[in-house]
Amino acid sequence: MNDQNQAAIELIDHRDTPESPGEGGHPEILILCEHASNRVPSKWQSLGLTEDEMNQHYAVDIGTSALSKAVAERLGCCALLAGYSRLFLDLNRVLEDATLIPDRTTDRIIPGNKDLSDDERGLRIAAAYTPFHDTASSLVDELCQRFGHMVIVSIHSFTPVMNGEERPHGAVIFDDRPDLAHQFAATLSDDGRYTIGENEPYSGYEIKSPSFEMYAKPRNLGRIGLEVRQDLLVSEHSIQDWADRIATCAAEFSESCRKSAG
Ligand SMILES: [Zn+2]
Repeated sequence: MNDQNQAAIELIDHRDTPESPGEGGHPEILILCEHASNRVPSKWQSLGLTEDEMNQHYAVDIGTSALSKAVAERLGCCALLAGYSRLFLDLNRVLEDATLIPDRTTDRIIPGNKDLSDDERGLRIAAAYTPFHDTASSLVDELCQRFGHMVIVSIHSFTPVMNGEERPHGAVIFDDRPDLAHQFAATLSDDGRYTIGENEPYSGYEIKSPSFEMYAKPRNLGRIGLEVRQDLLVSEHSIQDWADRIATCAAEFSESCRKSAG
């Protein structure tokens, strides 16, 4: 991997976990965190935005980098984290999506993303999209080959309130296996502390996520997206609590997908 690729992704690698990992080991799971970072390569000078703006939810999914690493640690699996901000290029969009390189935040036009040339778009795709998705694609192939089965868990965070409407504490996003997604949500909330939405505030059936479209659907792999409210991911204690919950649910989800594939 060259320097540029290392800057564009962060790979938490547990591929050396023994074939029969101890209790809780699930190396067949791949954690993806497409909005983990608020970095922009220095050449682009923060796209003309302030440091404060680059720390907002529209630049980065707050808390998800630490959460994804904690989940991968518990499962003994790999986590692939974005190295650059979604405002530089949104890894959770297919290439044809008009918001791949967004031209505005929720508050204003992004100066560095105005009137981009095809060359500039190509440069960003090469700098961010290709390293992330090439790595994800080869990890998916490798895990399928090694374990005969794998699942993708994509971790995100969202704001507590959107357009005046309060959101649940977390949500599962799915475009397949609704019964297993429902079970995932039920286990996440089984102690009654958190409300978990299902396909809200957006539906996995309506969005086109590359992890679903490019990796999971063609291979009929189990996949699920997770959203956690960002205000619940600000303390270490809370992050560890959510990591425990998500790891338990992801292990159960993977096991159920394996059994249903027969
Ligand atoms: Zn996100």
